[in-house]
Amino acid sequence: MAPHPLQPLSDLVDLFLPRRCSACDRGLRPQERALCLHCLEDLPLTRFHDDPKNPVALAFAGRIPVVSATALLRFDGSGRVQRILHRLKYRGDTGVGHELGLMLGEQLTRSASFQGVDAVLAVPLHPAKERSRGYNQSQVIAEGIRAAWPLTDVRGSVRRVVRTNSQTRMDREQRWSNVSDAFLVRRPEAVRDRHVLLVDDVITTGATIGSLARTLTSLPGTTVSVAALAHA
Ligand SMILES: [Zn+2]
Repeated sequence: MAPHPLQPLSDLVDLFLPRRCSACDRGLRPQERALCLHCLEDLPLTRFHDDPKNPVALAFAGRIPVVSATALLRFDGSGRVQRILHRLKYRGDTGVGHELGLMLGEQLTRSASFQGVDAVLAVPLHPAKERSRGYNQSQVIAEGIRAAWPLTDVRGSVRRVVRTNSQTRMDREQRWSNVSDAFLVRRPEAVRDRHVLLVDDVITTGATIGSLARTLTSLPGTTVSVAALAHA
């Protein structure tokens, strides 16, 4: 088959601006977005969404009234999910955050457990951190979700007020207390009588997003659910 007349031009663009798969680093074909087809078809999906006893939901059970909680991906030992999250968070790879947010949104619109949700809020970064990074990676995921599911974005309704210390040396209980009262509601009217989907990039202990959930559910008439790109 003869090459498409514009193929050499496309090859030339790829030569100077090589697009790479955010999971395996292979070169992307023109029709592939963020992830190569191989990685896209082989993503370690959790399929947690309609399981009320999934590990993300259990992180909040008995602590905070979260209606439903889930994550799109699990860590499967291949390093691909770690690479995706690292590129999204530290390398400015917002494309993969949007693509996977879109996939998460498509799945959640079909999930019975999330049908009551009517608003979305990305976990806010501390303003100084967002300035230095240039973007909030969770907001990128939330935008992807909204591309599939037109929820009201209530960004700005909550502010992050303390900069938490590095949590790597803390145990589970210390992490929970370290982030308590990390958030302040600025516009309660924006979340009143709303069921807000809280969005994060990765959930490990659930302490950060749990603190946000606790702050919001202390308001009369506000309920929350939780969705993350990955569960560690
Ligand atoms: Zn790949």
